[in-house]
Amino acid sequence: MPRRARPATRRPSRRLGAGAALLAGVLAGVPGAPSARSAPSGEVPVGVWPLDPVPAVVARFDPPTTPYGAGHRGVDLAGRPGQPVRTALAGRVSHASVLAGRGVVVVDHGATRTTYEPVAAAVTRGDAVAAGDRIGYLEAAPSHCAPAACLHWGWIEGETYLDPLLLVGAGPVRLLPPTG
Ligand SMILES: [Zn+2]
Repeated sequence: MPRRARPATRRPSRRLGAGAALLAGVLAGVPGAPSARSAPSGEVPVGVWPLDPVPAVVARFDPPTTPYGAGHRGVDLAGRPGQPVRTALAGRVSHASVLAGRGVVVVDHGATRTTYEPVAAAVTRGDAVAAGDRIGYLEAAPSHCAPAACLHWGWIEGETYLDPLLLVGAGPVRLLPPTG
């Protein structure tokens, strides 16, 4: 996996473009290049929002046109530091650690996986979770919304990024500015 040579790279910019792409590659768990589309190959499961109450969506899914290109491999949900984060679907925790200064939790649902960051994990790898179970707490930073807090929520099938809003039937969403 030659692409994960420098996981601790710090970027002063609050745009986490290249770092996010690198992290995305790590999360995908594959040495090759992740791609993206909106919907899974199979049926869309019915999930729950990772934050309660239903959060504002401050940045929507914007899949890159090239494997390491710019884009947004998930959605950003407005939250507050310390807010409980819940798994959208039942599954098993496949990853719970700190990557590049951000706490990351990944839940494996079989055909797909969901990712949550920055999150201080309240679960460990191997834990079985039901939809809506608390998996950790939203961290203040660094996030895509810094200095405001938000949850970056991803959904992956194999190496392909999907739009997690499909899990909650959100459809088109109204975007709010990422401020406090
Ligand atoms: Zn994001």
